[in-house]
Amino acid sequence: MKLLTIIVPCYNEEENIADFYNELMKTESFFKQHEVDFEILYVNDGSKDHTACEVKKLHEKDERVHLINFSRNFGKESAIYAGLQKSKGDYVVMLDCDLQDPPALLPEMYGYIVNDGFDSVATRRVTRKGEPPIRSFFARRFYSLINKMSKTEIVDGARDYRLMTRQFVNAILSMEEYNRFSKGIFGWVGFETKWLEYENIERKKGETKWSFWKLFIYAIDGITAFSTVPLAVASILGVLFCFLAAALIIVTIVRKAVYGDPTSGWPSLVCIISLVSGVQLFCLGILGQYLSKTYLEVKKRPIYIVKEEI
Ligand code: UDP
Ligand code: MG
Repeated sequence: MKLLTIIVPCYNEEENIADFYNELMKTESFFKQHEVDFEILYVNDGSKDHTACEVKKLHEKDERVHLINFSRNFGKESAIYAGLQKSKGDYVVMLDCDLQDPPALLPEMYGYIVNDGFDSVATRRVTRKGEPPIRSFFARRFYSLINKMSKTEIVDGARDYRLMTRQFVNAILSMEEYNRFSKGIFGWVGFETKWLEYENIERKKGETKWSFWKLFIYAIDGITAFSTVPLAVASILGVLFCFLAAALIIVTIVRKAVYGDPTSGWPSLVCIISLVSGVQLFCLGILGQYLSKTYLEVKKRPIYIVKEEI
């Protein structure tokens, strides 16, 4: 018998726990035929509703259901990491609780790993139907920007829904960084990945946990985690401004020699000072971003804290 671990991060998903379980059980017969057992890990990421109760109810019915309760909300990336660390399966899959990642795809994904020898099967949505247009616009810009800046490929529209072999999971676990940007980590470890595409499915119940602002911060985290290009941009800007300053010095000296010193030029001086200080603060900001990430990284704080495990 092989074991398939199913990791489900949940944050305020009380309405979805049971629905997800029922949907997942529709694939049970397929996996039974192929001699694969389930281990279902619900990672409760500090929910403020009855998510934990719902999972405990399921656990009483089905002992393959496990619960990992965090002491507070640590974010989906931490929940995924916890699930991977606790997983015992030969294969591991993680998917959202809101049924936006259809469990019905699992048999097909499993086929690619077992029959075609892929190390992981990932999914990407080809449409952004049902998403506010402004969000789609910024999401596209983000993916094109990060792919220009980073050597690691980060796939547009990639979801975290992914089935992996044990070897792939161990590779991910070996990346113990505190600032976890999964979309980059999956690409960074390499291996053969098969991409499945599907149309975006809207959330059935509850609400998305991502506001525009949260996504913006997440985008910055992704860029700092997988690219140091902004630091190079800061240096290049510095060099350019040195050249500009040299040219201005020459112009000023020549003008003084030829025309004397009429003490004019106040408006241009104001412009130059504002521009240069703006650029300086911008570059300082970039430096600050990397410094703050390094600061958090060297503290070696745990990625999550478990309150209870069932
Ligand atoms: N999630 C989590 N911790 C968080 C936010 C979200 O574990 O801090 C879980 C959430 O319960 C869901 C999944 O991550 O199962 C995806 O969240 P959501 O559906 O809100 O994101 P979207 O699908 O809108 O990108
Ligand atoms: Mg969702």
